[in-house]
Amino acid sequence: MKKYAIAIHGGAGTILRHLMFTEKENMYKQGLQDAITIGEQILKMGGSSLDAVESSVSSLENFPLFNAGKGAVFTNKGTHEMDASIMDGLTLEAGAVCGVSNIKNPVQLARLIKEKSGHVFLSGPDAEAFAHKMSLPTAGPEYFYTQERFNQWQEVKETDSYQLDHTDKKENSEKKFGTVGCVALDQYGNLAAATSTGGMTNKRFGRVGDSSIIGAGTYANNNTCAISCTGHGEYFIRAVVAYDISCLMEYKGLSLKEACDFVVKEKLVKMGGEGGLIAIDSYGNIELPFNSAGMYRAWKNSDTELQIRIYE
Ligand code: ASP
Repeated sequence: MKKYAIAIHGGAGTILRHLMFTEKENMYKQGLQDAITIGEQILKMGGSSLDAVESSVSSLENFPLFNAGKGAVFTNKGTHEMDASIMDGLTLEAGAVCGVSNIKNPVQLARLIKEKSGHVFLSGPDAEAFAHKMSLPTAGPEYFYTQERFNQWQEVKETDSYQLDHTDKKENSEKKFGTVGCVALDQYGNLAAATSTGGMTNKRFGRVGDSSIIGAGTYANNNTCAISCTGHGEYFIRAVVAYDISCLMEYKGLSLKEACDFVVKEKLVKMGGEGGLIAIDSYGNIELPFNSAGMYRAWKNSDTELQIRIYE
């Protein structure tokens, strides 16, 4: 069997060990394990990296503790507006969607946009109409609602501020959820990446983050790497994070680790951009850098054991 590899994330932010209960920590780990196992099985059986990232992200979207699909954060209007994207490193084809409120698995819509719409990026109600045409499962607001997300929103809704859903503003508060993503290398040497999010709590004005923006939150190219980001999206858009890492590899010959460390630990830090990412190259090397207190993450390749971590 040829080498394959996969990594997933469930968001980066101020995830503090001393504020996490064991039971909750175990629930997160279970969610990560279930999601990565689905993708890994596809790769092991000779499936494509594209199928693996779509399936793993769908599983993370269905898991209510992460901020994507079920359990997405609230906007300042008390709604859910979700963004997602997917990219195929072999063909450089991509699909993306932003501002959808009733799609159970936005990553699946991103994939359909890539393959069936003739376009790359659709938004809002028209994207939902396309999903309907494609018979993709939809759901009302009650499906996406969770009490914890609602409470997070109540704390900030009268203010102008918006926040990473997993960033602790108060010392004793419990806010540890996140955007989700997956990167994978299949046995044929093809890379793929996918990302999905509810965005940031209390976001306004139809705000769109990096997760649905190809080159910012998601990128895949067989010649370099596949990347999925999480963090303060405004900074990730301005730093064009995912494509920047690919370019540092392609044009400057940096290794995956060198490129990731430079962008996440130097460039973003200088700009004030909190967050992290998961990355994989065509040799199956995996990097999971972040400049926040923690990042929900799991990774595995064909010859190593599954690893699951939350903190540094
Ligand atoms: N990057 C996402 C956004 O800005 C948020 C996150 O990673 O949790 O929409």
